[in-house]
Order: sequence, then structure tokens, then C-alpha cells
Amino acid sequence: MPTAKSIAAALTTGNIKDMTEETQAFQAEVGRLLDLMIHSVYSEKQIFLRELISNASDACDRRRYLALTQPDLAPDAGAFKITVAVDKPARALTVRDNGIGMNRDDLVQHLGTIAKSGTAAFVDQMSGDARKDMALIGQFGIGFYSAFMVADQVDVLSLKAGETAAWRWRSDGKGAFSIAAAGKEAIGTDVVLHLRPGEDEYLDPHRLRHIIKTYSDHIAVPIELAGEGEAETVNDASALWTRARSEIAEGQYKEFYRHVAHAFDTPWLTLHYSVEGKVEYTGLLFVPSAKPLDLFHPDHRPGVKLYVRRVFITDDAKDLVPGWLRFLRGVVDSQDLPLNISREMLQNNPVLAQIRATITRRVLGELERKAEAEPEAYAAFWGNFGAVLKEGLYEDPSQRETLLKLARFRSTAADGWVTLADYMGRMRPGQEAIYYIAGDAGAALTQSPQLEGFKARGIEVLLLADPVDEFWIPAVGSHGEKPLRSVTRGTDELATIEPVESAPARDEPAVDLGGLIALFKLTLKDGVKDVRGSNRLTDSPVCLVADAGDMDLHLERLLKQHRQTDRISKRILELNPRHALIRGLVARLGDAGAHDTVVDMAHVLLDQARIVEGEPLPDPAAFTRRLAGLLQKGIAAS
Ligand code: ADP
Ligand code: MG
Repeated sequence: MPTAKSIAAALTTGNIKDMTEETQAFQAEVGRLLDLMIHSVYSEKQIFLRELISNASDACDRRRYLALTQPDLAPDAGAFKITVAVDKPARALTVRDNGIGMNRDDLVQHLGTIAKSGTAAFVDQMSGDARKDMALIGQFGIGFYSAFMVADQVDVLSLKAGETAAWRWRSDGKGAFSIAAAGKEAIGTDVVLHLRPGEDEYLDPHRLRHIIKTYSDHIAVPIELAGEGEAETVNDASALWTRARSEIAEGQYKEFYRHVAHAFDTPWLTLHYSVEGKVEYTGLLFVPSAKPLDLFHPDHRPGVKLYVRRVFITDDAKDLVPGWLRFLRGVVDSQDLPLNISREMLQNNPVLAQIRATITRRVLGELERKAEAEPEAYAAFWGNFGAVLKEGLYEDPSQRETLLKLARFRSTAADGWVTLADYMGRMRPGQEAIYYIAGDAGAALTQSPQLEGFKARGIEVLLLADPVDEFWIPAVGSHGEKPLRSVTRGTDELATIEPVESAPARDEPAVDLGGLIALFKLTLKDGVKDVRGSNRLTDSPVCLVADAGDMDLHLERLLKQHRQTDRISKRILELNPRHALIRGLVARLGDAGAHDTVVDMAHVLLDQARIVEGEPLPDPAAFTRRLAGLLQKGIAAS
């Protein structure tokens, strides 16, 4: 890379290009994205302009903020502007801004890699089927790279505020880009699109005007269209959230959402309001309808931007929205905070805390209304963001009751979502607890042997498959005076509840397990905490449960995965006294020569119970050896 000195030398000799041009390959994922763009069959190619204008507007916001503390970096005329300029003879379309600009590193970083967490991994998973991939990308977005849908060469000329050297980024989108020193004198960025053959519509001022009006009218910076004749300002150029709700069309809200959220879907919920009184602010908040890719990334992009009296301050105000509402997108524009507020001052700021409290109340209130009025739409929301919202159950006890009302669950009683109120209404006479089973999503959970006795008694069990469930359950503890209880823990009360009539008949009488249990205990020794008869099983011969005071099975596995515990609690092995296998074992206990078989069986059954739980076997070789032995005996006897 050339040094500042060598550039200065090159500038005086007029030899800059040769000296500094340097070609770099795109990050692999960007290369694949661009490949898609170039061969795009996307029907809405015009959105490239929205993306470039959105970036230009963000750049103006950033420079305006910088100029608060460094006034000499404000634009000369004091005004920010975005220009869309047409050069027909050259077949070039330029989007120019006087925003913050990019230096060499910025260009390489921002226009050569995918910075957004989650997105690169997402691109990695693309199927290779252009149509399908494009539909997915259409949902998650491509930003700057969309320029290559209409251009076969893109030049980006930029001078960063506060720096003296300007740079030119250039690419044909085919695997690489080049960087060279450039001779730009005004702070800001020019994105020059050399249009592909057949894309001449983007040289037509009428067409451009229409596109800008449709997609970018909400942009607060004036957008000027410059063709052959006089330049004209096309958009309204006032911040959308300052306009009256009655004067904003739904389409404008949608496009503003896409701009502010860097999103490509349609908002599921739009909340536009002003708060007056002790703390004054305007909020324009959205709940997305598609799940952002980085929702569970530690470095996810915060969604709500903070403005102070229309000046952008930060898109990283951690305290503006609670973590469990991090799916919110939009802007908050405060009247009370000082313009020169620093990031440090935003921490533990009482004004921000008040704003956060009202945002929380408003959003939850709106969610309650939606849940009531449009249950199906609400279910879609819950499917996307329920796991995030549930974090609030332990992070904010003051909202716990509301959140429990908003919570939806999978359950053994219904195919769709159920509420806790539904559950409470269906409790069986004598039922003392709200039962749940926690585990990984999928069929394994509903097939757990621990559920059998509950099914037979018509007792509903909540199926909890989000990792967060293990954290809020102990924090909440109970609801409506009923404790939340895992079916994988010890419980005696099942015996007191009658099986339902529709349960499959279990005519086989239970056998006395005393002798078998004693032998199992002797055999398994420290491998289990206890062996006992079970009333939670109907179809399976055995299962593992945690002792009443021990950690839930799934929670312990989860903590182990995250290296939060090395502890391996011993389990209780429960035997089903009505199962043919167990009955057979009891019957043969006294037989001469049966002892070895029962011993092998004890080990194999314990290992089977571990497999069903998804737990690793301590000695897989011993398991297969014993199993083969038992199978061999079975064949010999048949
Ligand atoms: P996004 O806007 O979602 O971050 P883009 O692909 O649209 O993604 O842009 C990538 C990055 O490139 C931006 O985040 C910004 O840092 C930088 N960038 C793009 N256009 C400009 C511009 N006109 N001025 C300054 N920076 C820009
Ligand atoms: Mg962008």
C-alpha cells in the first residue's frame, strides 16, 4: 500500500494511477452475491437506486453528527444534498452525496466484504438455484451490490471528511475490485454506474423521478435530479417521522422502514407516536415481518436509531430499547437530550431510561391488541420473535405478567400455539402443576418416553424448544399459584390422577418390581442415582428422570454444551411395571442361569434410556457387545 508520502510524490509527478492501482479479490461470499446480481432475473431492478440513495442519506447523517463536534467538517453551504445525475452520452448514472465519505480502508472493508453478522453465513447456504436464491436475497437484502444488476462497471469516488487523499474503487463485479488514488476535492462519495446494454431506462429523467418518488420520498436530505436541463429537487426532504400521520401513506412508511432497518420485507407492525410532558420524543417504530439474520448474534446490529431534534446521533444506543425487544426497528427523535451528547453520556442516562420505559409499554400494549384482534397474524409474529420476547421474562420482572399473557407455546394438546390461559383451563382435576418438557425442537421432544404417562392421563404438557426456556422457567417458577414442573423430574402425583378413558387400555397388571429393582441397583451401582417403578410410562420399558431437587435433564445438557458445568448429575432409572419386557425379566428372576441375562439387560436398558435422551453413552463398545449377546440369545431361543 502506498504511504501518504509516496502519494504526495506521485501527485506532483502526475503519476498516481500507475503507482497506486491495486486489485483485490472480493470475499468469497460477496463474489457469489455479485454473480447472482449480474445474472439477476429480479423483476425489481430499480431498487438499486433506493439502496444507493439510502446509503447516501446515511452518509449525510454521519457527517452531520461529526460536524457537531468538528464544525469545520460541515459542508460549505451548510446543506446536505444527494444528486442523481445522468450523463446520456457516456451512459452513466451517478449518485452523489456530500456525506461522510470513505477512505481506502473503508472502501475495501465496506465494498469488498459482507460485514453484517449472519449474512455471510446466509449467503454460504444459498442453494445455487438462481431464482430461489434471488427470492431469498430479495428478503434479506444486498444494499450497495444491487448496483450490479444494472451496471457492468461501478466506480466509487470518495473523499472522507477530515482526510486529504481521495480514492477510487472500481469493479465489473466479476470477482475483483481495484483501488486507486483519485483526484476528488469535495468531501463525499460519487457512485458512478456504467449501465449495461438494455438498461437505458435509468437514463430517462421521468423514469428516475418516478423511482425516487416511489422509493425515496421519505429521505430527509434533498434529492436533486440533474439531467440535461435544470436540476430539480424530487422529494419532500423532511424527516418522515416529523410529518403528520394522516399525511403519510402506508407505502412511505414501508420504504422508510426498509431504509432505516436495511431491510427488504414489509413491516408487520408500524407504531408512530409522539410523547409530550416530562420527556418529549417522537417514535417511529416497526416490527419486521421477516426474522433478521443476526437476531441471536452477539454483535447483532441495533435496530432503533437515536436522533436529537432531527440530527442523527447513533444507531448504537444500547439502552434505548431493552435487549428482549431488539427486533424493533425505526427511529426515536428526542427533544430533551443535548445535541452534543456523547456515547458515554448515553449510558445510564435518565432521559433514555424514560424513553425506554415508554417504548416498552407502547410496544407491549400494541402486541396485546394484535394478539386479541388478529390471532393468526400474531402467531406469525410469535414464531419469529417469541424466543426473544421470552428473555424479558427474566430480564424485566415488572413486565412478567404481560409477557406471560403474550407468550405462546407448543403443547401436546393442540397442533397450533396455546396460551397459558388455555393450559390452565384444561388442567385435570387433581393436577398440581403446569407441566413442560424442554428439549431440542423436532419430533424427539414429542416422542419422549417421559410424556407417556401424561398422555394417558390427558394431562397437557408444554413443549419448550427454545434455549431461553431453561432460563425463564426457574425465574418465573409458577403461574396462577401452580408451579412450572418438568416432566423429566421426579413426581409422585401422577399416581393420583385417573387415566382418561380414551387412553389405550393397559390390562396387564403391574408386577412387583422389588427383586428386579434390587438386582438393577446392584448391577448399575454408581451409573444411576436410583432405580424405581414408574407411573409416567405406558409404551416404553424404561426412562431416565432427574431427582426432584436436581437440574432438569435438558438444562444440564445445555449448560454442558456451553461449558457452564462439568457436573454430571446421576439420574433415576424408572422401570415400567406393565411393560412386557420388564414383566418377562421379573418372571425369569428366579430361573437358574437367568442372572447374566438380567445383568446385561440392566446395562442395555440404561444405555437405551440415555440414547432416547440424546445423551452420549459412557461406553458404546460395551453397549454393542451386550446388545449383540442378547440378540444372539434371542435368535437361539426362537
Ligand atoms: P448497509 O447500508 O446495509 O450497511 P450496503 O451494502 O448498502 O449495506 O453498504 C455497505 C456499507 O458501505 C455501508 O454500511 C457504508 O459503511 C458504506 N457505504 C456505502 N455507500 C456509502 C456512501 N455513499 N457513503 C459512505 N459510506 C457508504
Ligand atoms: Mg445500504
